[in-house]
Amino acid sequence: MTPEATTVPRRVLIFDTTLRDGEQAPGCTMSMAEKVAVAEQLARLGVDVIEAGFPAASRGEQEAVAAIAERIGSSGPIVCGLARATHADIETCARALNGAARSRIHTFIATSDLHMARKLRLTRDEVLLQVGDAVAYARTLSDDVEFSPEDASRSDIDFLCDVLRVAIGAGATTLNIPDTVGYATPDEYGDLIHRVCALAAMRPEVVVSTHCHDDLGLAVANSLAGVRAGARQVECTVNGIGERAGNAALEEIVMALRTRASYYHASTSVDTREIIRTSCLVADCTGVHVPPNKAIVGANAFAHEAGIHQDGVLKDRRTYEIMTPQSVGLDGNALVLGKHCGRNAVRRRLEELGLRLDEAGVGTVLAHLKLLADRQKVVSDQDLLALALPVLPVSSAVEVS
Ligand code: MN
Repeated sequence: MTPEATTVPRRVLIFDTTLRDGEQAPGCTMSMAEKVAVAEQLARLGVDVIEAGFPAASRGEQEAVAAIAERIGSSGPIVCGLARATHADIETCARALNGAARSRIHTFIATSDLHMARKLRLTRDEVLLQVGDAVAYARTLSDDVEFSPEDASRSDIDFLCDVLRVAIGAGATTLNIPDTVGYATPDEYGDLIHRVCALAAMRPEVVVSTHCHDDLGLAVANSLAGVRAGARQVECTVNGIGERAGNAALEEIVMALRTRASYYHASTSVDTREIIRTSCLVADCTGVHVPPNKAIVGANAFAHEAGIHQDGVLKDRRTYEIMTPQSVGLDGNALVLGKHCGRNAVRRRLEELGLRLDEAGVGTVLAHLKLLADRQKVVSDQDLLALALPVLPVSSAVEVS
């Protein structure tokens, strides 16, 4: 905490939906083994809730959610499954979550006039009835029930409030407010969350949650505006993967709350030193690589190229760094090893050491590194350099001091 903070910061719950909304992104499909590996890493990262999938979507989803539910222990995150607002979906979801130590059913239905008329072909009254029925049914199967009015940010606000009152009355314990299509601006979204928090104030145990998409590049800004307005849960994905332009990026939310703690006055349970490792694993499992200029987890996020910047950083890192590389897990050898993270971690560490290799070169170094890692527990930077220098293209600049 910074010295300015005088009271205990609010805990904001981190609800990770990498395995549900993230996996729904084009080309992000993961195998069952990959999903379980990501879930275990999310538990090490320290998120509060893992949305493991949408069981009614397919048999494979049911099996993956069940496998994750069984793998995550009682000291780990809550395991959540998504369900449309129907008894069949909710029952399938509850069955998949059966083996979980702590579980949550997340049920949703669209509430914007556009979605109700064109997609669902339901009237407002029919949707209200379905919300009450679905949430009440979910509560017969779980004490922990989240409700989302899909397309909330484009819904009529008075109708949305009616829907949320019904959901609370039926026993919803979390109200999630999706900006499903990334349409809201931070001021608008903050106002919306403020209004929902006021509505939910009659039940202090009910948590209000954000769920923002990045179609206009505002997912993180909107989520943080939601936190400022009183949201106590943020839904997000590792590397910001997700439908279309993606979801709010977990690593950006968490590091913004941490770096600007005296402004947001909120904290999370995330062990930020696991951020890079988690990012690498998700990138490798999905095949969706992180651009070098991506905040927090991009290869250049902590790189200083310009001479003036390098000079400043060498004298005092705080001149150009608002976060330390160590705070997100960029502390050398800890990154390099590991079956899943291999290629990315090697490429990243080589770049930190000033070496830029092509993919074939990184592959060669990785192959040798794995042989070396079999023989010695820790592969040092010196070892890595010794492996990399022979495969370095002649023209590459070497900036190692
Ligand atoms: Mn979404």
